[in-house]
Amino acid sequence: MGLILITHDLGVGGDVDKRIAVMYAGRIVERADVFDVYGRPGHPYTKGLLDSIPRLDQKGETLAAIGGLPPNLTRIPAGCAFNPRCAYVQDVCRHDPPPPLREVGHFRFSACHFAELLLTDSPELEVTQDADVVEHETNLHVLEDRPPGTTIPGDAGIGPEVSGGAMGGGGGA
Ligand code: SF4
Repeated sequence: MGLILITHDLGVGGDVDKRIAVMYAGRIVERADVFDVYGRPGHPYTKGLLDSIPRLDQKGETLAAIGGLPPNLTRIPAGCAFNPRCAYVQDVCRHDPPPPLREVGHFRFSACHFAELLLTDSPELEVTQDADVVEHETNLHVLEDRPPGTTIPGDAGIGPEVSGGAMGGGGGA
């Protein structure tokens, strides 16, 4: 008998799954045996999910988070859909077609241009954007996306230069 468990909590998945497929914006971005994924993720989104699981040995430390919000599925970003939130984004990620899911190791598949560098912890793979900056930028896009006259709870005090913005942008929902 087979069982497919769909969860947003990788901590749960690790307890019961043998193989894991990680999805982002409606596509599988990583697929592998669960121990391989937990030992060394081969996609930055998977890495972000794993880094954000609370751990008992990190008491008192700030929990890592993936900056920004999931994309609006009617306006998925060009290139790699994860690029507005990815810590390792490069120009190729924004301008080339979305990277296909490809084999990057023994029974390991990743849809990242730089999966091999991530898997080998290569110093060539540099962090290019900060989660706090992504969070801030996304919040501004969300404000710009809303129709004039609508309000978002908790945004009192934000100046008129962003509160009356036009439709557009792509901060996601
Ligand atoms: S292709 Fe680029 S933006 Fe997408 S996950 Fe890989 S490094 Fe990040």
